[in-house]
Amino acid sequence: MLGRFIIISSPSGGGKGTLIKEVRGIMPELGYSVSYTTRSQRFGEEDGREYHFVTRDEFQDLIDEGEFLEYAEVHGNLYGTSMRASEKVFQTGKDLIVEVDVQGAVQIMEKLRGECISIFILPPSFEVLKARLTARATEDQAELETRLRNSFDEVMQYSRFKYVVVNQELPAATRQIASIIIAERQLLDRQSDHIQGILDSFDACKHQYR
Ligand code: 5GP
Repeated sequence: MLGRFIIISSPSGGGKGTLIKEVRGIMPELGYSVSYTTRSQRFGEEDGREYHFVTRDEFQDLIDEGEFLEYAEVHGNLYGTSMRASEKVFQTGKDLIVEVDVQGAVQIMEKLRGECISIFILPPSFEVLKARLTARATEDQAELETRLRNSFDEVMQYSRFKYVVVNQELPAATRQIASIIIAERQLLDRQSDHIQGILDSFDACKHQYR
């Protein structure tokens, strides 16, 4: 059975980066692909770890080369998911968790005709989102305002997703995301090969009990 896309989206400051780190900590079998971005590198970020940091020209070259599964302009910067890196993860049979904005999420959902696990992370309130964004202090005032302004439209996109997790407490939200992934793996049609193997073992012994 092929691996699946697990799409995580939220407004900026919704906590998805931290949540993904926590989920990957308890589910190390999940694959991850590092996105490309034209935004400037923040203090503490490493090129190739949080993002591949590129110029607009380099990003445009990557678009022209068909490198992106999806890309979007978010808060004035370009972000894109690498097709090649995603395929590499799927070749190993792993599920792939991607952190994308709502536009990117919709592009992936349309390409896969809904064949993915889409999870929207909601902050518990606007006040909490603002407090978290302000406290992390990674943006200047103008950028902070842009992100807060964009959050009003972003939260309204929740209904495009299959699951919603409210990120009130990190441990609870982490468990909820992990539970969704585990439950999706137990879906009957995700297990048909495995089930068939079990049924075959019954079939092979049936004649002994006739
Ligand atoms: P940040 O600048 O805070 O790291 O990210 C800003 C926004 O870009 C977040 O909503 C984040 O989820 C989104 N983002 C990060 N990587 C990608 C990507 O590869 N594609 C898209 N469409 N959005 C991304």
